[in-house]
Amino acid sequence: MDIHISRLHFPVTTLGPGRRIGIWLQGCSIHCPGCISADTWAVDKGRTTVDSVMTHLAQWLPAAEGITISGGEPFEQPEALVALVTALRSATPADILVYSGKPIEHLTLVLQRSAGCIDALISDPFDLNAPHTKPLRGSDNQRLHLLTALGIDRFSAYEAPCKVLDKSLDVMFDPDGSVWFAGIPQRGDFLRLQELLINQGHRVHISADRARTTKVHQS
Ligand code: SF4
Repeated sequence: MDIHISRLHFPVTTLGPGRRIGIWLQGCSIHCPGCISADTWAVDKGRTTVDSVMTHLAQWLPAAEGITISGGEPFEQPEALVALVTALRSATPADILVYSGKPIEHLTLVLQRSAGCIDALISDPFDLNAPHTKPLRGSDNQRLHLLTALGIDRFSAYEAPCKVLDKSLDVMFDPDGSVWFAGIPQRGDFLRLQELLINQGHRVHISADRARTTKVHQS
């Protein structure tokens, strides 16, 4: 089964409870203004197979307490997503959280086919103009759905407002010198970091959609 992947990482500690595997799928047609992951929009990158992904994840699965699947838009690869969460459910007792920029009402078929494999779902598109007070979400219009008993156990606490620790970001360093962040930044965080680093002479590229940059400059 083919799947397009942007990134795999372990450990991720900012997108759900515990030490988690992060799986970012490549490709998203929704294009929310201000998306911080515009580098995942292109659909013609990162082609591999679900079997290859599972082989790569095998080194991390024994230590993983949870798995977060984001993107990109995971539900725009429905066959691959069902195959991936089914394989993960068989391979580990870790919880599985999936993000989508679509309303849950548009995901019924895939959720039926993957019943019991996705424990929690965060649905709905990022809204740059909505308040941002809830953990795990970039904007408060995004809904958290607890789909299994494990999902209720692991994610009920995330219905409460953000605490200080919810504002953390993971930092990842690639061999080529690239630095990546995982987590939910506060509005304007990446722009402020970009300006700080540029002022110190670094070359900086951020993956945020320009609408976000423009918005922040105007405020
Ligand atoms: S926030 Fe998510 S759904 Fe929206 S454009 Fe970015 S990757 Fe796509």
